[in-house]
Amino acid sequence: MSQQIYGLIGNPVAHSLSPRMHNAAFAQLKLPAEYKLFPFKEEELADFLKNLAAKGISGINVTIPYKEKAISYLDKIDPLAELIGAVNTIKVSEGKLEGFNTDGEGFLKHLEESGFDPQGKKIAILGAGGACRAVAVALAGRKPKSLAVFDIDNRKVEKLVSELSVKFPGISFAGINSLPGLNINQSDLLVNTTPIGMRESDACLIDAKFLHQGILIYDLIYNPAETKLLKIAKERGAKTANGLGMLLYQGVLAFEIWTGKKAPVEVMRRALAEGLKK
Ligand code: NAP
Repeated sequence: MSQQIYGLIGNPVAHSLSPRMHNAAFAQLKLPAEYKLFPFKEEELADFLKNLAAKGISGINVTIPYKEKAISYLDKIDPLAELIGAVNTIKVSEGKLEGFNTDGEGFLKHLEESGFDPQGKKIAILGAGGACRAVAVALAGRKPKSLAVFDIDNRKVEKLVSELSVKFPGISFAGINSLPGLNINQSDLLVNTTPIGMRESDACLIDAKFLHQGILIYDLIYNPAETKLLKIAKERGAKTANGLGMLLYQGVLAFEIWTGKKAPVEVMRRALAEGLKK
């Protein structure tokens, strides 16, 4: 088997932990493959994607800011990725590009590993960008009772909520235009999909008084491992989870799409943990 090339496109990608995770998995399964970083500017995107097969690349992950833009260069798109409106994984086979989105399913796998079953639950989401769309579609597929979304950009919220309402009848969707309207004090799960919390100087978006023992607070951010939101939630006795498990499982699912082999999950988990320590 000749050497296979995989990698990540985005801008910036320098700090990504994906090469560690995937290269550890390739080594564990003794696959002749390497995962590289491909940073480039937007004007180079079309040329890069049109020539993926010619460059000998078998699969790529896609991150900010190309997850939506990459769709127009695909030959085929998985229905879930189409509904989300973004791809994070592309597989090249026989010169054709097929797009997938493993972010939402990766999130769900970690959520369920954390002991949370979304069915019949009241869910609140902060942020309505790309990651939220993946998370919201995945959650909607598990029949929650209600799903409320807040973002500073109300147009994104309205668009997402109207699309989801058509696709998932029977679930109560709400686009919220003020934080108190999220009713966090009555929710079972709050997911932060905004980048607020990544910087030390970021304020916590949620007032501690809304957090309670019966809620799981899931922050998609994994660096820092404990955002202010998660710290305050813990202090209030809420259950908490950060996005490292989502990062792991979106990678596990991408690996399995590319190679057709079962991913060595624990090896990938360790590679991520070691990468974060550096
Ligand atoms: P994005 O497309 O920029 O979405 C973030 C959304 O949050 C935007 O709509 C943004 O609005 C909104 N927002 C910003 N500040 C807000 C505030 N104070 N209140 C309400 N909404 C606010 O980014 P993304 O790709 O979805 O990523 C979001 C976060 O998830 C990032 O931290 C990313 O690292 C993380 N993530 C983690 C994983 C994982 O595997 N763990 C995977 C994907 C993403 P504006 O655009 O108007 O600012």
